[in-house]
Amino acid sequence: MNSPSGPGVQPQQFFFRCIGCGDLATSAGQDFRCAKCSDLLEITYPGWRSAGPDPSHLKLAWCQRRLSQSAADLSGVWRFRELLPSLADDNEIVTLREGNTPLYELPQCSRITGVERLYAKHQGMNPTASFKDTGMTVAATFARRAGFRWVACASTGNTSASMAAYAARGGMRSLVLVPEGKISWSKLSQALDYGAVTCQLRTDFDGCLRLLQELVRRAPVYQLNSINPFRLEGQKTLAIELLEQLNWQSPDHIVVPGGNLGNSSAIGKALVEMLDLGLISRLPKLSVIQAEGANALVRTIRESGGKSLVAVQAETRATAIRIGNPASWKKAVHVLEATGGACEQVSEVEIAQAKAEIGAEGIGCEPASAVTLAGLKKLLTQGFVKRNESVVLVLTGNLLKDPDFTIDFHRGELLKENESARTSLDRLRRPPIVLDASLEAVMKTLEQAQ
Ligand SMILES: *Cc1c(COP(=O)(O)O)cnc(C)c1O
Ligand SMILES: [Zn+2]
Repeated sequence: MNSPSGPGVQPQQFFFRCIGCGDLATSAGQDFRCAKCSDLLEITYPGWRSAGPDPSHLKLAWCQRRLSQSAADLSGVWRFRELLPSLADDNEIVTLREGNTPLYELPQCSRITGVERLYAKHQGMNPTASFKDTGMTVAATFARRAGFRWVACASTGNTSASMAAYAARGGMRSLVLVPEGKISWSKLSQALDYGAVTCQLRTDFDGCLRLLQELVRRAPVYQLNSINPFRLEGQKTLAIELLEQLNWQSPDHIVVPGGNLGNSSAIGKALVEMLDLGLISRLPKLSVIQAEGANALVRTIRESGGKSLVAVQAETRATAIRIGNPASWKKAVHVLEATGGACEQVSEVEIAQAKAEIGAEGIGCEPASAVTLAGLKKLLTQGFVKRNESVVLVLTGNLLKDPDFTIDFHRGELLKENESARTSLDRLRRPPIVLDASLEAVMKTLEQAQ
């Protein structure tokens, strides 16, 4: 059965627009860069300028689709397809029922920060347990439609897990380039299980991405890094779904981790488009948080005023944002300017503490996601965020993505080189206790824990 689509709700024709020179094109090369100036491309919908889809029709159609059982409507990405590149036929979609992620209240973190209206949009609840799935469903769909047999990515782990899954669902082969020894077993095991050809390269993420750029020019493989603008279109739906969950009332702040900066770019693009289309009446401020050891965007803003990239040699235990040469930095700078957001950095100690605090809410997240709470504390201290404002933290990945970090933290093996920092976190640690199998021993432990 076809899904309901009210009047004025039509699939969107799209163009590729260069973010540098503004050139418009109907197709893009393998490298997804402008043929004239080699800057990144973004997808635009020229039809919106004359007669954009009607906001109330959109809201109604999206709501009605929740009652539908069609694959496109069950996807939390394709349910919003009026704001995505159009397909001739819904059966072309490669989907794993991505999106539809919960928006949680964070009562304990509210108490810690003093921010009463504090929420977490938990993208770790996606099919492969990170936000990457929301972009991958769109990019994999267009890869298959273009007739590619092979897709490929460079990854710190989550992109490869997601790509491998969607390639498998779409009947394509996948090639994964990951930095050797620097990705978690959980993420690596996902790529292996979903059948990817997995290469562990003796370099870092930035080295993997560089090599992939050369590969796609030489071989008929479709590049699924976030340079691919189809991925960012899918990742926009995080913001659309969030605003729907908030009854289309914009929060004051959205806080997101920044690695390669695709996600912040996508969320910002969605916010601006929603404002232009009249779906929301004001823009939330979108702030990007990085680890101190991988702070390319922070330095780019502080040292060049956002004009030219200051790349860094990245080092952090939050491996998902261990990126020193972020591809989408220009898009992210634009988004910070457009929404009036801030860009901050947080230390390894602050990340570990924030992760434990989010864990204690009963939801948990991976280290890279915890920079949002750590960053929020800084933005509060600076007065950029006020305690009476509403704040949404984007939790990008699931707790189970990096069990080593969690176990090292609770056993006191994290931050070993920093004794005072480690002891400051002792009250949050819950190390496993090894006991003889006697009732007495367990009873004693229970008493001591009261
Ligand atoms: C990919 C990823 C990030 C970083 O997102 P970018 O789009 O690269 O900025 C942050 N957290 C998690 C869990 C990720 O998988
Ligand atoms: Zn250009």
